[in-house]
Amino acid sequence: MEITNFRKMMAVVLFSFGLISNIFGLINAFIHNNGISTYISTSVCLLSIIILFIITLIRKDYKSFLTWSVILTGMVYFPLIMGFYLPDGTPLIAGTRNPATFYTYTFIIPPSYGINVERKKELVLPILNLLLLEIVIINRLDLNYGIMYLVIYTYVLLVTSFFSMIIQKHYNQILLENTRITKIAMRDELTRLYNRHHLQDYEDTEQEWIPIMLDIDNFKLVNDKYGHDEGDRVLQQLASIMLRYASDNFIPFRYGGEEFLFLSKMSEESTDKYILDFFETVRRELHTSDRQHRTISVGIGKKSVLNDKSIKCADINLYISKNNGRNCVSKNNEVFYS
Ligand code: GH3
Ligand code: MG
Ligand code: MG
Repeated sequence: MEITNFRKMMAVVLFSFGLISNIFGLINAFIHNNGISTYISTSVCLLSIIILFIITLIRKDYKSFLTWSVILTGMVYFPLIMGFYLPDGTPLIAGTRNPATFYTYTFIIPPSYGINVERKKELVLPILNLLLLEIVIINRLDLNYGIMYLVIYTYVLLVTSFFSMIIQKHYNQILLENTRITKIAMRDELTRLYNRHHLQDYEDTEQEWIPIMLDIDNFKLVNDKYGHDEGDRVLQQLASIMLRYASDNFIPFRYGGEEFLFLSKMSEESTDKYILDFFETVRRELHTSDRQHRTISVGIGKKSVLNDKSIKCADINLYISKNNGRNCVSKNNEVFYS
């Protein structure tokens, strides 16, 4: 079980524990007229646990809830460590003292589990627990007590399940939100291509890739002549052509500025063919809004596991294309297609 799930579950257990037992405690204190100190202490515990639970839901911080719940419930449940008390105040384990005030807390101890009702397996423990409890109670007392515990137990089970479901719902929302944020962090805002950060995810794998670097030729002139917005539009246009060529075997990235990268899983031969097709498409389709064609320079790297060195190799070939008049594709340190 994941640690967050465990904390979440414990938070539900302790919350239900605290809430229900304190409500019973309060009712019991009234019935038995236990005096002002019992009302105050039980009410304080009850309120603290409810406030703590609300803060937990708002701040989504199950860990702190757990710590504070332990402290709060510890204050209330310490007397129980001394022994089990039955509703008439009789200690279940002979020899323990009998502060009648605490007997109602025994309603809660066995049945309180943070149950995720969607997972049927989690019901096994509470049901076993109920059987054990019933055997002990019917043996030591009678059937009436057995039935009474059965009713209370079922009730508590329903309540804990209800709170568990609320927390589960919250937790699922957090998970969804996290996934959304991670997805945003992987993508470049302007072009929606994967960004350089996401490239790292491909680095620590066995998979071999051919990196292919592309850079728009004299892009600075586009910005200077037509303005930055037009420059952005040209970048988006190139990205949309790249996306048309994208597949699981051919992944496009925005490497930075007006530099882009493909990672190819295909064979060298297929990659070369594919890249030349792409290169020609860019030649035909990439242009400014007044239909002035823009070109790119390309550097093809060597097939290997992805690392700085393999990207550098593609980069060197890109510079060979740049130094040979741009608007061409280089590979193995020479112009391959122009
Ligand atoms: P070269 O052919 O040698 O690549 O020349 P270049 O002008 O394309 O390259 P240079 O590196 O001199 O200029 C790149 C320009 O790209 C400079 C920078 O302002 C521009 N640029 C980088 N990122 C963006 C962007 O997101 N939007 C726009 N509009 N321009 C950008
Ligand atoms: Mg450029
Ligand atoms: Mg550049």
